[in-house]
Amino acid sequence: MEKLNTQNVRVRIAPSPTGLVHIGNLRTILYNFLFAKHYKGNFLIRIEDTDQTRKVPGAVENLLKVLEWANISGDEGPYLTKDGKVKEKGDFGPYTQSQRLDIYQQHIQDLLDKNKAYYCFCSKERLETLREDQVKNKLAPKYDNLCRDLSKDEVQTLLKQGAPHVIRFRMPENKDVICDDLIRGEIIFNTKNLDDYVLMKADNFPTYHFANIVDDHLMKITQVMRGDEWIASTPKHVLLYEAFGWQMPQFAHLPQLLNKQRKKLSKRDGDSSVSDFVESGYLKEALLNFIALLGWNAGTEQEVYTFDELINQFSLDNVHKAGAVFDVDKLDWINGIYIRESSEAKFLELAKPYLEKAELLTFSDNKIVINETGESIKPTELNRILALEKSRIKKLSDLPEAIGFMLSNNLGYPAENLIWKKSDKEQTKVNLKLLLQYFQDLKDESFNSEKIEVDLKALIQQNNLDTGSILWPLRYALSGRDKSPGPFELASALGKDKTLARIQKALDFLS
Ligand code: GLU
Repeated sequence: MEKLNTQNVRVRIAPSPTGLVHIGNLRTILYNFLFAKHYKGNFLIRIEDTDQTRKVPGAVENLLKVLEWANISGDEGPYLTKDGKVKEKGDFGPYTQSQRLDIYQQHIQDLLDKNKAYYCFCSKERLETLREDQVKNKLAPKYDNLCRDLSKDEVQTLLKQGAPHVIRFRMPENKDVICDDLIRGEIIFNTKNLDDYVLMKADNFPTYHFANIVDDHLMKITQVMRGDEWIASTPKHVLLYEAFGWQMPQFAHLPQLLNKQRKKLSKRDGDSSVSDFVESGYLKEALLNFIALLGWNAGTEQEVYTFDELINQFSLDNVHKAGAVFDVDKLDWINGIYIRESSEAKFLELAKPYLEKAELLTFSDNKIVINETGESIKPTELNRILALEKSRIKKLSDLPEAIGFMLSNNLGYPAENLIWKKSDKEQTKVNLKLLLQYFQDLKDESFNSEKIEVDLKALIQQNNLDTGSILWPLRYALSGRDKSPGPFELASALGKDKTLARIQKALDFLS
């Protein structure tokens, strides 16, 4: 296998602006970025928009927003200004292919002059019929090289007449092409399976293959790291470099993303857009950490990495060939770790948009208002409520559902749910009254979960009660749910007034 060239590293991502940024795209972005930063090289962004029919308005802006969200910035290429406009920086521009058409014209002329490319005047209809016939005869669809040997005069005449045409690559016949891949080693392709593919389209736009090679060369790209769906294109690229007489960059094809059944990841398995993941409440650090592990590991047991650790430890030697399984449970697990580790202030910041979107709370500069009741709630009180769920939720979008009951004055539930399985209605009423008394007497400054726990355990012992017969109705009265955080934490987070009101309400339900 080739030795990695680590001098003047210049790598790029070359997205086509055809839609949203998917998880697989983000993996390619991340690996290129980590690699560039690891070797103190440059990370470029190039927009491959030569297929005008597939262009989606806003796709470039969306890509740049995702990069901004991930704190990944290009050293060269397009970026977003503060007011949301797309500008470019760097000495090798333009970085958007549709603005480089004259460059491709010059280079196609070079290939025509070297007789490595030729004009093809076949009509769309002819090519379609050819294709249909081949499919009918179970042959691989391939151009039949009709125009490959047109004479110079024939070509000139047709060009003068303004005949529509494309320019094709003159594929060497029956030649083995060796593609050396930093991850996979040598892959050998034979040209008999390749056809004289199009380099320049009838609309004077280059095809992906042609523009990609010209630009990687002119932008002095040292390594091409991309998804393995591009492996089949690599021999075409290698031959183009040879035709131009240019040195090739090194290739590294990243492993495919698979679902748990080890099939190609589909939308249904979670191959959603990055914005979907962000909206579901995955933290940036967690998502990037998880994605870094989709095809790479440091060769140790470590699974949780800071971004700097990823930059320090990332190496292509540890990127594997085999497909990488996308395991949402693992993402949830990593996300949970980052949620638990976030500071109180950060968690409140993270929670805000989800609580607002669910219309639970309204945040303004100096006030937080509970929408249902119109009451305001202090940040310290809200933090106490958030702390209840911090170690229980998997993602931020679980929060509104998880804490909604804490902010409501309308807990509705069937009264019998308050009764512990080994208890009865009368006993439950007696115990709730006991609790009411206890909380009434408890001083504000002692209203914390540790104190409440110690006191209630003592109360249970002194009165010789079954623990469940008191803690179950308390927990139910405070939460109105079968599952919730423990009763002591709930009482402490609700505070004295609400705790008393909820116990009283439970008693009312039972009477
Ligand atoms: N434009 C291609 C894409 O959309 C780039 C592939 C490559 O990196 O060569 O992914």
